[in-house]
Amino acid sequence: MTEHVDVLIVGAGLSGIGAACHLEERRPGTSYLVLEARDAIGGTWDLFRYPGIRSDSDMFTMGYRFRPWTDSRSLADGTSILRYVRDTATAYGVDEHVRYRHRVVGADWSSQDATWTVTVDHDGEVTTYTCGFLWCCSGYYRYDRGYLPEFAGVDDFEAVGGTVVHPQHWPEDLDWTGRRVVVVGSGATAVTLVPALAEQAAHVTMLQRSPSYVLSVPATDPIDAKLLARLPAKQAYAIARWKHVLIATGFYKLSRWRPEWAKALLRKGVAGALPAGYDVDTHFNPVYDPWDQRMCFVPDGDLFKAVRRGDADVVTDRIDRFTPTGLRLESGREIEADVVVTATGLNLLAFGGMTLSVDGDEVALPETMAYRGMLLSGVPNFAYVVGYTNASWTLKADLVAEYVCRLLAHLDRHGYDAVVADREDDVTEEPFLDFSSGYVQRSLHLLPKQGSRTPWRLRQSYLHDLRTLRRAPLDDGVLRWSRVHERASA
Ligand SMILES: Cc1cc2nc3c(=O)[nH]c(=O)nc-3n(C[C@H](O)[C@H](O)[C@H](O)COP(=O)(O)OP(=O)(O)OC[C@H]3O[C@@H](n4cnc5c(N)ncnc54)[C@H](O)[C@@H]3O)c2cc1C
Repeated sequence: MTEHVDVLIVGAGLSGIGAACHLEERRPGTSYLVLEARDAIGGTWDLFRYPGIRSDSDMFTMGYRFRPWTDSRSLADGTSILRYVRDTATAYGVDEHVRYRHRVVGADWSSQDATWTVTVDHDGEVTTYTCGFLWCCSGYYRYDRGYLPEFAGVDDFEAVGGTVVHPQHWPEDLDWTGRRVVVVGSGATAVTLVPALAEQAAHVTMLQRSPSYVLSVPATDPIDAKLLARLPAKQAYAIARWKHVLIATGFYKLSRWRPEWAKALLRKGVAGALPAGYDVDTHFNPVYDPWDQRMCFVPDGDLFKAVRRGDADVVTDRIDRFTPTGLRLESGREIEADVVVTATGLNLLAFGGMTLSVDGDEVALPETMAYRGMLLSGVPNFAYVVGYTNASWTLKADLVAEYVCRLLAHLDRHGYDAVVADREDDVTEEPFLDFSSGYVQRSLHLLPKQGSRTPWRLRQSYLHDLRTLRRAPLDDGVLRWSRVHERASA
């Protein structure tokens, strides 16, 4: 028999566990399940196992609003984050609602029954579930394959014992002690890997096509440490969280308002952390403005320290091809390597790859518009979590969860069965994300659109969303509410 729940959550990562905790707290009578494709809770923080894996957001905003992060380190290692997510799931009794190895492959909404029928692949067997509300917390990228550009000559390199690894699939038995390592990339993963690998490697080269902004932040902020030492955990967490929100928002706003000032500040920070005469402009001064792409944060300048010690260096050039001894660059330079780590990024994937349909008609995602960055136009009783590009993911995930709980309460209170956001004719389409990063640009054509004005515009602003998602009226003329018997008579 098909199992039915009020709410079906897809994914048991940070967002899915947070969503379930919100249901536990705010909607005690609501039945729910969490369907998880893998056999563990944790998502990103369980999948990625590369050396040094850590957050690059502070944990006071990466943590859930409802559960204090009590460690004074604000950039935390992957194991601690995973433990935090799992402990939260246990503390709220959410872990008992998770069904593992359940990959959602499709969901069809029936207007007649105001019900989703969700198709699931469970260890190769197809099963179905039904639910009143579908909440997609599937993250934003493909788990099975990271992004890897085509490089010529990889076989020549591997044939003589060279190793090529992608950080998304880090081999447990890889030993880089005393070996020459090249990390290809300039994003958060590359800047994390370089100092971590440099501890044992003979030498590490970070090979980047173009630079990113890199900002050193304290691994442990002394103010946070004092707050945690002197105040009860909940109070200390709330204050530290606000402090981080305001500093991050302030810096983001400055970057957009006076990019040249932010650029100068960032450049000064890097120049001060590197040896005199270091070519900062070639390796750490991007052509784009701060926050046109996600910024890289390094705890206590660990990347710069590795460069200063001579354990690591940065090369800005393009790969021509792999050779039996390493890499040949377009400039003609050769870099010798034993291990090449391709920190070349992720493949974005919307809604965990599941197909959505409404009354049998498949939803073409690029034809939909995102309402408040969490509902899809024309798709009833469906919400999703996609975090901020300029702040911690969880800040948005928590707000979406509060909003979904409000929607569910409104449905109940008024005896409605369904809610859908209807597109408005005067709102023009804009790309879902205004980020120039390669991984975003490669996938924009597959994603929903955002709109030119509220409530369709994604402002990437926690302070704005805090006001609107918590307080905006639900009867806003855009959300359409309905009852099954109204539809039947229509
Ligand atoms: C290396 C790395 C570092 C990061 N660091 C930060 C950071 O410092 N700060 C920050 O804000 N963000 C960071 N992010 C973004 C990060 O993904 C989010 O912070 C957060 O972990 C997202 O949580 P999530 O639960 O939404 O998605 P995920 O962690 O991706 O979890 C999604 C879950 O859904 C499951 N799933 C997917 N599709 C399906 C399906 N069809 N059926 C069933 N289950 C499915 C997956 O198996 C997974 O368990 C980082 C990302 C990466 C890759």
